[in-house]
Amino acid sequence: MAMRIDGKAISAQIREELKAECAAFVAETGVLPGLAVIIVGEDPASQVYVRNKKKGCEEVGFFSDGYELPADTTQEELNALVDRLNADERIHGILVQLPLPKHLNETEVLLRIDPSKDVDAFHPYNVGKIMIGDYSFLPCTPAGVMALLERSGIEIAGKKCVVIGRSNIVGKPMSMLLLHANGTVTVCHSKTRDLAAVTREADILVVAIGRADFVTADMVKPGAVVIDVGMNRRADGKLTGDVDFASVEPVASAITPVPGGVGPMTITMLLKNTLTAAKLASLKK
Ligand code: NAP
Repeated sequence: MAMRIDGKAISAQIREELKAECAAFVAETGVLPGLAVIIVGEDPASQVYVRNKKKGCEEVGFFSDGYELPADTTQEELNALVDRLNADERIHGILVQLPLPKHLNETEVLLRIDPSKDVDAFHPYNVGKIMIGDYSFLPCTPAGVMALLERSGIEIAGKKCVVIGRSNIVGKPMSMLLLHANGTVTVCHSKTRDLAAVTREADILVVAIGRADFVTADMVKPGAVVIDVGMNRRADGKLTGDVDFASVEPVASAITPVPGGVGPMTITMLLKNTLTAAKLASLKK
């Protein structure tokens, strides 16, 4: 039976470390790390994320500033808010909760965020830095996966790593981080031929597709490490991953559950990035 990688426990441990690190930073500089979160419209899932981000900030001792803008906010209004936060010295991280309502241009907003405050690491400047392996911020979900692997004592160097999914926020940066850690990486997507044959080669399989219970035991090599990034809602409202946990757990050597695996790590990595941003800003002074 596989070891269950406990994202909740690992996340709590990292938050304790961040809290201590934050207290030391505040004592040394008198600066409170600050995160601004902008949400436009009333998407219930986004509102939950934003609330959890605020709670996370409080837990580790950061200052947090929330902006709940109406769904009919114009591009100019949103841009002006980002400009104001870029210039605000109390704010070290700016997060615009996606997706934005359709009439707003996401790319324009993300490009407007000062890269030194881009704690989601979505700005092309930071994406480029990740590509060359010289980064300040890592995108939160892939960074969370790396932390889970590291803290569970799972070696990546020399391993065959397969990532299913090639989105800009999960799959692509995930594959880059595994490559930087000296994994031999294959990226799969919806056009991959004979997907199961590819995934069966994986020592480490990371799944980020967005389809409930998609990966079944026959797609997994015995003894593989399986990381499930997926977050899907079942008809009964329950959260489930992209991996069929019941069938894969007996085959894998280690596996993340959903909920309680990758999910809790994402906001924790956002907090880590915010502290990094505050430290880098204080070095510039
Ligand atoms: P996305 O942008 O929709 O990308 C999905 C990827 O999966 C695409 O690259 C797509 O391939 C690929 N795919 C879809 N169907 C496939 C199939 N049948 N076979 C192989 N590949 C297939 O999704 P995302 O934003 O990366 O998110 C993926 C999942 O992770 C979602 O469940 C999301 O909710 C979850 N997520 C969780 C967290 C967290 O904090 N735990 C954070 C972010 C996302 P193509 O490129 O060919 O279309």
